[in-house]
Amino acid sequence: MRIFTAALATETNTFSPICVDRRAFEASLYAPPGEHPETPTLCSAPITVGRRLAAEKGFELIEGTAAWADPAGLVNRLTYESLRDEILDQLRAALPVDAVVLGLHGAMVADGYEDTEGDFLTRVRNIVGADMLVCAELDPHSHLTAKRLAAANFFIYFKEFPHTDFVDRAEDLWRIALDTLAGRVKPAMSVFDCRMIDVYPTSREPMRSFVDKITRTEAADPDILSISVVHGFMAGDVPEMGTKMLVLTDSKPEKGAVLARELGLELFAQRGTFIMPQIDEKEAVSRALAAVSGPVVIADTWDNPGGGTAGDATVLLAELLAQGAQDTAVGTIWDPMAVQICMAAGEGAEIQLRFGAKSAPGTGNPIDGFVKVVRLVRNAEMRFGESYAPFGDAAHIQLNGIDIILNSTRAQSFDPSLFSAMGIEPTSKKILVIKSTNHFYASFAPIAAEILYCSAGTPYPNNPARTPYRRAPRDIWPMVDNPHGDAQGAP
Ligand SMILES: [Zn+2]
Repeated sequence: MRIFTAALATETNTFSPICVDRRAFEASLYAPPGEHPETPTLCSAPITVGRRLAAEKGFELIEGTAAWADPAGLVNRLTYESLRDEILDQLRAALPVDAVVLGLHGAMVADGYEDTEGDFLTRVRNIVGADMLVCAELDPHSHLTAKRLAAANFFIYFKEFPHTDFVDRAEDLWRIALDTLAGRVKPAMSVFDCRMIDVYPTSREPMRSFVDKITRTEAADPDILSISVVHGFMAGDVPEMGTKMLVLTDSKPEKGAVLARELGLELFAQRGTFIMPQIDEKEAVSRALAAVSGPVVIADTWDNPGGGTAGDATVLLAELLAQGAQDTAVGTIWDPMAVQICMAAGEGAEIQLRFGAKSAPGTGNPIDGFVKVVRLVRNAEMRFGESYAPFGDAAHIQLNGIDIILNSTRAQSFDPSLFSAMGIEPTSKKILVIKSTNHFYASFAPIAAEILYCSAGTPYPNNPARTPYRRAPRDIWPMVDNPHGDAQGAP
C-alpha cells in the first residue's frame, strides 16, 4: 500500500496589509519531501503521524512538500501556484498510490483564488480520479466550500481553540483513512450551514461543553465517525464565509444531516455568547491604574499577529501615555524601521523616534517622542511551550516612564519571557500590555494579578455586522437577526 501526503497552509486575513510571498513560507516552514522536521507544525501533523503509522503498519508513505506561512494577508499568486504545482507534480510522479492524505488550513486566499483549498483539492481529484480516497485535516478557522466537499472524501477539523489537539485530530484522520482503505468504513460527509459567524474559544463556556458533547456523541455511536464545528473565519472576505457543522458518518448521510442540523441550530441558539467580554482602551487603562496589585495584563486582543494583523497598533499605548501610566511595559509593537534606527543609535542613546501604526488604518497614529534606547537584542526569542518563537531584532525603549519593546519579526505575545529577553522583569511591573487574543492565557495567567481583554481600535474586522465585506454573505447572523427564516432560528 502506498499513500501520498503533503501540506500547504496559511490563514489569510484578507483585510491585512501584510502580503505573503515565497519568503514568508520559507521563514515559517518550507520542507521539501523527506525534510519535514520530526515535530509537526499546526497544519502538517498528517505527515509526522503518517510516518509513525507507516512504520508501524508497514505501508509506504510518499512525502510531498510541506509549506506553512504564519497568518497574514493575501498570498502572492505565483507563490500559491508554484507551491501547489510543486505538490501536484510530486503526486503525479508518485502514482500509483492508494490514497492522498493532506494537511491544509482552509482559510488561504491567494490573488486570483478565493478558494485555494477548493482549487488545490479539485486538481488533486483530477489527477487521481473519482475512486481514490482523498482526505485532509484542517483548522476550524476556515471556509467550508461546496467545491472542497465535492473534491474530497472527508475532512477532519481541530476541535479545540486554542488548537491544542492538532496531533490528536491527525490521528483521527489517519485512523478513518486506513479503515476506509481496509473496507471497514465508508465515510460520508453531511453539512449544515449555521448561517452565522462568531468566535468560539473552547477554553470557556459555552463552547467547552459543546465540544465535550460532540466528542461523547462520536464515542457513543458507531455510525458517527467524526463531528467537526467549522468555526469559519470572519477576517476572510470570501463568498462562503461562515460557521458550518460537519458530521462524518459511516455511509449514513441522512442520519448525518439530521444530526448536523440539530447541532448547528443548538450552536446558533447560543450565538453571541461564546467570546470573552471585551472593554475599550480607556476602561482597560483606568482599571489597570486603579488596581491594588500587579501586574495587570491588558491583552490588545484584536491586534494579534497570530490572526494576521501587523501587530503595530498604538491605540493602547497612546491611552497609557494620556493617562500618565508608569511602571508599565508594552510588548510588542512591530516596527522594523524604528528598530533599525535604534540599532544605529546604540544602547544608552536618547533619540527622537517615530514608531508604530504605520501599516493599516484603525490602528492609531505613529507615536513621536524623545526615547531612551535601553537594550538591543538581535534575533530575539520568547518561549512558546516547549520551543521558542522568534520576534526578530528588537529594541527596548523608554518613553515617559513606559518600557516599550519594538520588534522586527511579527509575533504574537505568547509568553512573559518576551519581556525578560529584553531586560524587563515582567513580575515587577504594574501593567503589562501584550498582543494576543487567547494563546497568551496559559503562560500569563500564573503571573497576572488580573487579565483584561481590550478591544482597541479596529486592526481586525472583529465586528461582522459592521465589517465592510465585499464578497462574504450578508444574509447570515450578525448581519441579519434571523437568517434561518423559521421558528427554530428565531430568538
Ligand atoms: Zn485557527
